[in-house]
Amino acid sequence: MQEFCSLSLEECKQWMEESGEKPFRAAQIFDWVYQKGCLSFDAMTNMSKDLRAKLNSSFCFPSLKCIRTLNSEDGETIKFLWELRDQKRVESVLILSKERRTVCVSIQVGCPARCAFCASGKEGLKRNLTPAEVVEQVLHIDRFLKEKGERVSHIVFMGMGEPMENYETLVKAIQILNDPSAFHISQRRITVSTVGVVEGIRKLAQEPFKVNLVLSLHAPNQHLRKKIIPYARKYPLEEILMAMDEYAEKTGRDITYEYTLLSGLNDQREHAEELAQLLSGKQCTVNLIPYNPVEGLRLHRPEKQAIEEFRFILEDHRINTTWRYTKGKDIAAACGQLALQK
Ligand code: SF4
Repeated sequence: MQEFCSLSLEECKQWMEESGEKPFRAAQIFDWVYQKGCLSFDAMTNMSKDLRAKLNSSFCFPSLKCIRTLNSEDGETIKFLWELRDQKRVESVLILSKERRTVCVSIQVGCPARCAFCASGKEGLKRNLTPAEVVEQVLHIDRFLKEKGERVSHIVFMGMGEPMENYETLVKAIQILNDPSAFHISQRRITVSTVGVVEGIRKLAQEPFKVNLVLSLHAPNQHLRKKIIPYARKYPLEEILMAMDEYAEKTGRDITYEYTLLSGLNDQREHAEELAQLLSGKQCTVNLIPYNPVEGLRLHRPEKQAIEEFRFILEDHRINTTWRYTKGKDIAAACGQLALQK
């Protein structure tokens, strides 16, 4: 049986035609599922009994079950832990910031990138998520928000997993999130974060949609980057930056570089100087993220003064920076922490 939320509108129309039904029914079902949040074909009262029976015998949902939610003390972050059909677990984070309702989704169980500072990478990749397993993270959180008269407004692919290593699911999920019959979240409000899978960046630049792209940089040179992101060995930093430039040129989107500051490892003066040289002349923003401690990892968050000095050096070289204190420290906000807890 197929997962309904893995279907794009076009695929749903095609199924209708092949099943002897009118294609416009597809948009009606999308409205039930994504606008009304209805997850039962039997409750779709404007469909014939016959069509409902056909849908019930061909499709299933939901694919994930919420087994835990955790609210941060500041009330600005809510973490959702999901159990999948095979009992594996992933998590999503809802970030409440002014009028924004951003969902940070997972795209894999575990992650192949094995970043030194990340809980998700600790045990490597377990499996890819299906498009439905990604879309349903948003669907369930959207239903949760609707009860308060709110809707999901932004999506970031920054949860567990490397999006470019589950490319087909990424593209399908973006299509469904962006579709006016489904969530209708604009391309400008969708952000994909990668550790720098060059062929993935180049493929994404060729897609008909233009989403924001973020590179998890975390080091100013290849040598140090390989230590922080073991996966980075596969791709020379120069080639990744070139692919990012091509993406910016092709799509007109600004590029963001994320830099997690790890005390004593990548937060020194010379690292800031080298980073400024590396990004010199680029239309970009560096998002500085003070490390969020993960149990069992011997890494530390830099002092506030060190972070400010790092930022000052970049700004002095005319590099735009933002500085983000990771929200939800008290609810294990670093990605993968909750899913790894027993
Ligand atoms: S930080 Fe992101 S890319 Fe790195 S291991 Fe964690 S989930 Fe994977």
